Amino acid sequence: MTQDFEFSQTVKMNLFELTNEELHHRLLNRAAEERRLTHQILQLIAEVDQRKLYLPMAQASLFDYLVKLIGYTPASAQRRIDAARMMQQVPELGSKIEDGSLKLSQVSQVQQILRLVRKNDNIQLLPNEKKDLLAKLENKTGEESELILAQEFKLPPQTQFRQKIQQDESVRIELTLSKKQMEIVERAKALLSHALPGATLAEVIVNLAERYVRTRVGAKFRSKSQTKPETETNADFESKDRIDQDSTSATEGTASQRRVVSQQAIPAAVKKKVLGRSQGCEFRDSKTGKVCGSKRFLEVDHIQPRFAGGGNDPFNLRTMCSSHNKFRYTNRC
Ligand SMILES: [Zn+2]
Repeated sequence: MTQDFEFSQTVKMNLFELTNEELHHRLLNRAAEERRLTHQILQLIAEVDQRKLYLPMAQASLFDYLVKLIGYTPASAQRRIDAARMMQQVPELGSKIEDGSLKLSQVSQVQQILRLVRKNDNIQLLPNEKKDLLAKLENKTGEESELILAQEFKLPPQTQFRQKIQQDESVRIELTLSKKQMEIVERAKALLSHALPGATLAEVIVNLAERYVRTRVGAKFRSKSQTKPETETNADFESKDRIDQDSTSATEGTASQRRVVSQQAIPAAVKKKVLGRSQGCEFRDSKTGKVCGSKRFLEVDHIQPRFAGGGNDPFNLRTMCSSHNKFRYTNRC
């Protein structure tokens, strides 16, 4: 038995003994350590960059050095180079990365845009301008940062539609959707998440097209792209009422009980109403008050469970993502 194995076994045993709160706080602490370490790594990379240490080590660039000799993936290497170089001009960046208010990926977004405006418009930002720009991105998500940067640099929306046939006859399409159009597509994707878990945007669009064709030409239509059986792709478009299964297994009902439960299934119109009025999963953390809000895998949940006499009145119904629905039933909360 190696020392490493013994160590990992001890860690595993200790982890098993942790309370939920201790586990959460340990992870918080380790993530903070990870960010501290990232800051130190950026300082080391900046120094390697200054010394051009990669050249005597037979690497053509800092990027090659980080990928081939240090073992980063190309994307991770690029993010670290972008941040290390930005840190040379904006030293405050290190502490922002360390406290988590800025992420490596945001710094990379900034560097990409700065490269673009330097190339296209010959504009070069001064260090204090870069510092101000980074300040605007603090505590923002990747999408929010993207929007701020596009507005800041007045990047024109790319509206050109491109379609290219590739050698295997697949077609690569590049298109622009307005904010409203994208919201509709995202909504459809979320509603389809039961039938097509983890589907790409392309799979969602094809599935919607297939559904439309089927409404026009009937059941005889069968797409070659379908890999799943018809019944599965035809799964309830709005949402599956999984509660039937959950409450049945929770009560370990007999066949006749199961029949009774299924007779009480929530009418489609009621389900539609409940899903329509919600902003996503309504599960709330009882300690922090934080609401999940997920828009994927949504199901309709009985506030007063059916086995405890709860009915299908919309007042007794709410929206839950399938993870929280299962969590609620297994934890009886
Ligand atoms: Zn949820």
